[in-house]
Amino acid sequence: MPLPNRFLTSVLVRREGQLFLFDCGEGTQVSLKMLNLSWKHIHSVFISHMHADHVTGLPGLLMLSSQVDRSEPLYIYGPSRLGEYIESSRRILDMYINYEIIFTPVEEGVLVETDEYTVNCFMLKHTKICYGYSLVEKQRPGEFSVEKAILNKVEKGPKWSLLQHGVAVENSQGQIITPDMILGPKRSGRKFTYMTDSLYFPEMADYAHDSDILFCEGMFEHALVDDAREKKHMTAFQAAMVARDAGAAKLCLQHYSPRYSDRELKILLAEAREIFPETVLTKDRMSFTIPLKD
Ligand SMILES: [Zn+2]
Ligand SMILES: [Zn+2]
Repeated sequence: MPLPNRFLTSVLVRREGQLFLFDCGEGTQVSLKMLNLSWKHIHSVFISHMHADHVTGLPGLLMLSSQVDRSEPLYIYGPSRLGEYIESSRRILDMYINYEIIFTPVEEGVLVETDEYTVNCFMLKHTKICYGYSLVEKQRPGEFSVEKAILNKVEKGPKWSLLQHGVAVENSQGQIITPDMILGPKRSGRKFTYMTDSLYFPEMADYAHDSDILFCEGMFEHALVDDAREKKHMTAFQAAMVARDAGAAKLCLQHYSPRYSDRELKILLAEAREIFPETVLTKDRMSFTIPLKD
């Protein structure tokens, strides 16, 4: 439930100016306004499951963004019932939305693929059908070597840019110069993983494998592990197990039980840090930068 200083679950990812929202609990709209981001241009929304604490912020968000100029559609992904929820909210609340909403019911596997990234979807184990998501950047082209370009007699100008974009060019002596002759080794992309509302199971670490940042629920302290399993939720310690086994770089805990005051959340943090020191307790509107690896 929302508390005065703790709204419900939602994580916003900004990548190369594009915004992706994962879940949209009550209060998300308020936080977005407080952050003063150009959130009106959210590109896609990914919903884990149809429990109120993850979706009740959505109608408000759609209504708010209806007042802005927008020519691109808004993509929404989630369990099939999410489509009904959006449709009925629009109809019953007489929402006027002046842009297209494209809803796609999700299945496990690759959900979105562009030249730069993919969004993968995997199934969790909760009291309702529930999905987790990973945003995975593809490898980036290697670094451009000016030295090699000069050595290979490629004149400075449009040809340099073509090489940078993976296109072979002809040099001043009529020889074909391919990008691999000029660019360094390909550079790795980054990975963001979002999983919440599930009992713990070991394969979660495979889904989160090699994440630079992993958002995972840490709802309870470990003394309540049986309770957590029964309610199909996780302890913070179990989230840390996933992060450790996945070889993640950072774990961001989220989705805490309202039984813990802000001060008591330190118990959850301490338990998680026992086995995964790079753990943070997230708070509303906290932000992290995911640095490029090379
Ligand atoms: Zn739930
Ligand atoms: Zn929940």
